[in-house]
Amino acid sequence: MFETTIAGSLPKPAWLAKPQMLWAPWQLGGEALVEAKRDATLLMIKEQEDAGIDIVTDGEQARQHFVHGFLEHIEGVDFSRRVTMGIRNNRYSAEVPTVTGPLRRKQSVHAFEAAIARTHTRRQLKFTLPGPMTIVDTIADAHYGDKVALAMAFATLLNDEAHELAKAGIDVIQFDEPAFNVYMKEVTEWGIPALHRAAEGLPCKTAVHICYGYGIKANIDWKATLGAEWRQYETIFPALATSRIDQVSVECAGARVPIDLLGLLKGKDVLLGVIDVANECVETPEEVAATIEQASRFVAVERLYPCTNCGMVPMDRSLAMSKLAALSAGATLARGRFGS
Ligand code: ZN
Repeated sequence: MFETTIAGSLPKPAWLAKPQMLWAPWQLGGEALVEAKRDATLLMIKEQEDAGIDIVTDGEQARQHFVHGFLEHIEGVDFSRRVTMGIRNNRYSAEVPTVTGPLRRKQSVHAFEAAIARTHTRRQLKFTLPGPMTIVDTIADAHYGDKVALAMAFATLLNDEAHELAKAGIDVIQFDEPAFNVYMKEVTEWGIPALHRAAEGLPCKTAVHICYGYGIKANIDWKATLGAEWRQYETIFPALATSRIDQVSVECAGARVPIDLLGLLKGKDVLLGVIDVANECVETPEEVAATIEQASRFVAVERLYPCTNCGMVPMDRSLAMSKLAALSAGATLARGRFGS
């Protein structure tokens, strides 16, 4: 009961990439970079195991960004044609590549780090991929001319990649869809259908991560405008509950999400965000256990998986590790109280 996991990313060691920033430049190149990515993946597996995390990830050590790490390997995406555009409904600007031709996955994108992670842990292993709607929101398009067609084209490539990862022994494939929290109407119209295409026929568990974004200033400022209660999930949870995705990862720690909304996810596993990634204060085990207990009033305990709110990549490394330890200690405390 209360097996712990993380949303996906962890801070990179300073010898691999510039710390505490998104899209951090690599510190090395060529073969040295390949080896450094390998070493960092191994290190982050070990850090999670030592912290007591049950379902571990590769910490996204081998990719520069959770969306562009995938796009870099896709034919038809031109990184020399970068444009600055507002993303997440203009919440912040990002420099994004452009789709200039038909999309094709030339080769496996993440087989390298998935194999390293699988070789070095016996724990359950989760692997994250960007969701189709979030990709479409993080790229410029000069070829397809239609968001839905573009999303479906990416979903097909994601599905091929996900099948390879499952074959390599990955236990859970998670699609990251922070855009689900922004374009609520489109989520039901084409976001979930695209997600279904991405997850089609997978033999492993599937998850979707939605959230209010990394703990960066643009997101913190945005959250301050959302009022006393954040009810965005109310619109999309019923649609996710009827989807074919097994697990939903949501932000609950330090968030103004009314916890009873989790009741709308009937029949789904809930990866319950009990660790805030937007502040520097380490949760106490008691706080973590309290969030679990509150959620247990609306979600069956066997469906609750304590988790971080979101990725930790822009965070101070030692702070992130302390938060993982708190996550694990809080889950242990809650297990004791629920008698398991
Ligand atoms: Zn997130």
